[in-house]
Parts: sequence; C-alpha cells; structure tokens
Amino acid sequence: MSLKTVDTINFAGKRALIRVDFNVPLDKQYNVTDDTRIRSAIPTIKKILADGGSVVLMSHLGRPLKKLNEDGSVNFEKHSLKHTLSTLEGYLGVKVQFATDCASEEAFALSAHLKAGEVLLLENLRFYKEEEKGDAAFAEKLAKHGDIYVNDAFGTAHRAHASTTIVANYFTDDKKVFGYLMAAEVANADKVYNKAEKPFTAIIGGAKVSDKILILENLLDKADNILIGGGMAYTFLKALGKKIGNSLCEEDKLDLALTILEKAKSKGVTIYLPVDHVLADKFDANANTQTVSVDDTPDGWMGLDIAEKTIEQYSAVITASKTILWNGPMGVFEMEKFQKGTVAIANAVAAATGNGAFSLVGGGDSVAAVNQFGLADKVSYVSTGGGALLEIFEGKTLPGVKAITG
Ligand code: AMP
Repeated sequence: MSLKTVDTINFAGKRALIRVDFNVPLDKQYNVTDDTRIRSAIPTIKKILADGGSVVLMSHLGRPLKKLNEDGSVNFEKHSLKHTLSTLEGYLGVKVQFATDCASEEAFALSAHLKAGEVLLLENLRFYKEEEKGDAAFAEKLAKHGDIYVNDAFGTAHRAHASTTIVANYFTDDKKVFGYLMAAEVANADKVYNKAEKPFTAIIGGAKVSDKILILENLLDKADNILIGGGMAYTFLKALGKKIGNSLCEEDKLDLALTILEKAKSKGVTIYLPVDHVLADKFDANANTQTVSVDDTPDGWMGLDIAEKTIEQYSAVITASKTILWNGPMGVFEMEKFQKGTVAIANAVAAATGNGAFSLVGGGDSVAAVNQFGLADKVSYVSTGGGALLEIFEGKTLPGVKAITG
C-alpha cells in the first residue's frame, strides 16, 4: 500500500499543518531521553520548508487530563511540548516559534503570520478534552492553522482524535497528504502483513496474552511460524497441563490459548513455546535464579526469561526465515539477570536481516530492547508506533489513514 505523500505537493507560499507524534519520554528535568519520534518527523518538515512553505506542528504529549496532580489539577509543566523545542531546533537548524495554547487567538495570529521557511509548534493538543473526543468544532478550529493538512503521526494513527482524523474533513482531497514517516510505516507493515516472503516468522512476547489475542489470531492466516516468549507463554504452557509455579498467567484465557494452538495445527502454522526457562524466586533484579526445563518448574518460582535450548531452537527458526515480525520481549529484559533471551533473539533477528531477511520490529518494549542493545540499525525497520502497528496486524484500517485515503 503506498500513500500519497508531501512529494505530490509544492508547498511554496503555503502553510502546512502537520500532525506529528512528539510524544517523547522526558526525564525529571524535562530533558528528552529518546528523540526518535522527533527525528523521524524531520524529513517531512524539511521538504516543506525547502519548497518555500511554512510549517505549523501539532502533537500531544502524554495524557495530561488523565494523569493529574495529587490535588486534581493539570500538570501543565510536565506535559508541555516546549520541552521538545531545543531538540527540534537542533535538527531543523532554524528557530521554532511556540504557541502556549494550541487554539488561542494568539496561536492563530502566529500561524496566520508565518512566512516562508518559518516553523511554529503548538502546545499540547490534549490540554483540550475535545482532542481525544474527536470533537468536530475543535477539529474545524485547528484546521484554520494551515492551508494543507499533513498527517505524519503514525503513533496516534489508530485514534480517531480531532487532530489525527477529524481535522482531515476540513480539507479538500487535494489538500491533505501523508508525511514520509507515515508512508514508510504503512508500507513496511504492508510488506510484512500482505506481501511477506516465506517463511514468515512472527515473534510475539511481552506480558499478557490478552493484549495479543487479535494479532495472534490474525497471524494464523499469515505466518508460517509463531515463536511465543515472555510472560504470555505461561498461559499457553499451563493450558497444555504444565506446572508454571508463580509465573504470570491469565486463568480466563486458558481455553482461548488451547483454541489458538488447535487452530494453528489445522492451518499448518507451527507455534513454538519455550522448552526451558530461567526461574526466579521473586520478581526482583536480585532474585535467586535457576534454569530448568518447562517440565520441571518447582512450586514457588516464576519464569522470567527463556533459556538456552529455547534460544537455540528459536534462533534456528529465525535464521531460516525470509520475513520476521517481532513484537514483545522474551523476558523481563529490564533486569540484567533476565535479558539474555531477548538479547539472543535480537541478535538472531539482526543476523537473519544481514543474510537478506526483511525484519520489522514494533511495539514499545521490543523497540526499547533493540535500541538498548544497539541493534536498531541492524534490523530492516523499527516502527515508531506500538498500538498503531498492532492494529494493522489485527487487520484493522487505521482511522488516521482512512481520513485521508477515504
Ligand atoms: P508488552 O507491553 O505486553 O509487550 O510487555 C512487555 C513487558 O513484559 C516488559 O516490561 C517485560 O518486563 C514483561 N515481561 C516479559 N517477560 C515476562 C515474564 N516472563 N514475566 C513477567 N513479565 C514479563
């Protein structure tokens, strides 16, 4: 699927209203600790400025109306997009103006007077409850900030919010397009979801089965192999009658786990489950550990990582694959004692990519893992969107995409 991008428009003398995803992590001093999302938006902004256009940027940051201060007030400082200004200016090499309220008269005066080559960043859209509600009047107001609407916010493309979806209604078809990031994300997801070269292996990990049910069911019609790791493996192992000690388990999903395993068999998809694992006596970075077969899990211990035999087996499947999707870590990789499995799988994906496989890594924690282990440039594509990518693999059409493609 190829989307109509900013390349189809000459922006000379035009104001582009770009929905970006600057929802970046900040430390206690409000420094940006991972600027991937800002960096990813730069090529689209630069193309418009190079054409002789001007740019109005809008984004959300966190959930300011849901994560309130203890006294019930909104923490404006913590959720201010002004903290992203210096990073943005650094990448663009130009001064960026800032509107302290995205929909105030002052903001509209600033956007109305933008000259060619100038950039304005609007304050957090989610300071208005209308944003997440997809309020039409609010979207219509936002639309006044630009002549052309550009959506480059893949991270929120699965939300029908005012700035991601509804705002597109106020631009004619020739005045709404996608940014390069959106186009690349959708093209790469499409390459795996619809055009995977076989064998196609999906690696699905992370904490809970319940978050991954739809994606697992969909993958049964697409993948040749599904490697399951992380906390979610234990619901499957228990469903097969194994003792899992205190490992994570969703009791209400045991039947569903069995159904998925049966369906996989009938569809000729091989689902792999861990054969051995690293156990801990408590959920703690300094816990006592032991490595055993999944047939020998003693009471009172919990599985927090896959172990050698599983790593070997999973790596062999990965090595033999031509297309790889990876979502979710194989263990509690945030703790050093339980990161070996995730590191090994990351390395196997990187090696397979080096040998010509196409690999797509997506979903918050697996992205954090490849970044942490310095392997981001050794896989084919690292997605910036967790929920949005999952929804593509659940077979859904993203509202932010549909709003422009119709
Ligand atoms: P998710 O957001 O569903 O991809 O889950 C990611 C989280 O799952 C990470 O924070 C991991 O620490 C956690 N996780 C991975 N493996 C396990 C496990 N065996 N037990 C408990 N949590 C796990």
